[in-house]
Amino acid sequence: MINEEVIRESLREVIEQKSGKDVVALGIVSSIIIKGRDVGFALEISNDTQANEELRRNCEQAVKAIPGVGKVTVVATSRKQAGQQRAKSCIEGVKNTIVVASGKGGVGKSTVALNLALSLAKLKHKVALVDADIYGPSIPKMLDAEKSKLKIQDGKAMPVEKYGLHTISIGYFIDKDRAAIWRGPMITKALYNLLMGTRWSNIEYLIIDTPPGTGDVHLSLMENFNLTGAIIVSTPQELALVDARKIYDMFTKLNVSIIGIVENMSYFIQDNSKIYIFGKNGAKKMSEELGVKLLGKVPLDPQICHASDCGNPLMLSKDLAGAYEDIAKDVRSFAYSL
Ligand code: ADP
Repeated sequence: MINEEVIRESLREVIEQKSGKDVVALGIVSSIIIKGRDVGFALEISNDTQANEELRRNCEQAVKAIPGVGKVTVVATSRKQAGQQRAKSCIEGVKNTIVVASGKGGVGKSTVALNLALSLAKLKHKVALVDADIYGPSIPKMLDAEKSKLKIQDGKAMPVEKYGLHTISIGYFIDKDRAAIWRGPMITKALYNLLMGTRWSNIEYLIIDTPPGTGDVHLSLMENFNLTGAIIVSTPQELALVDARKIYDMFTKLNVSIIGIVENMSYFIQDNSKIYIFGKNGAKKMSEELGVKLLGKVPLDPQICHASDCGNPLMLSKDLAGAYEDIAKDVRSFAYSL
């Protein structure tokens, strides 16, 4: 069977001359797409053209050699040389930092971020959730943690623990209406304080719920912190997808790996049939067009809305929880592959 694991396994045979390491260990293989027998993926490389072309061809040949594989497409994407990048902070006590973003508000970004975090925790990982939606923090409400009292120890905030997650939100510090009027430098400072002023300990996945669009929070995150990757959330509606493409552009221009796209509110089930309220397969088509993985589809379901409103995210049916769990497994494979 052709799957990502098999492909990665074959690519472990391809060694980059300069470093002596294989391309998987180097973390330069991403966006693996399998369509029937055909395989495509991106190879992040610097600009040493002849050596890179050889590396690209070796990757192509290694995957072609897998029994059953048809056409192989390897797209070379550019990577800055290590020395060209400005120094970025690592967040103490955190292994993987994952950003959840969307082009538009109201597409379910916070809901995906929260359920992804919970699913990773269910998979026995230590997970933190940062509500960086500085203008409209919603995580405290979704966790029924609005009244939580923050503890400060040795000058650092202790994360609020809820449903096994270690969470921090601007909403724990101030009234959310005050946050809505913040601008540029204040936002950057607040974000920095949230991430660096909290005592994290042995966190494997830190999930950051960002505000919608491409603004100060994203730029500040990308310029100042080492990010493992980003997840884009969109509904299948064309209007939402136009904005999701802008998010894709922002991440690719600033060299943040895109883990994949989540199609939220994909369909509504009525009388055992699917109704495509926001159009059919929009995000799926976009993922194919951009060569980015479709991490999963989450249906429009009143249970999801209700769970947020009553602050109990664990009340979802097995099927819905399973949809989020599949996304979490893909995110974990991505992190493992680095
Ligand atoms: P965003 O972070 O993109 O602004 P939210 O996660 O806050 O979006 O979701 C917006 C609203 O839609 C919330 O009321 C939420 O409960 C609801 N919602 C999100 N995803 C779904 C879904 N798949 N089915 C039903 N309601 C959803």
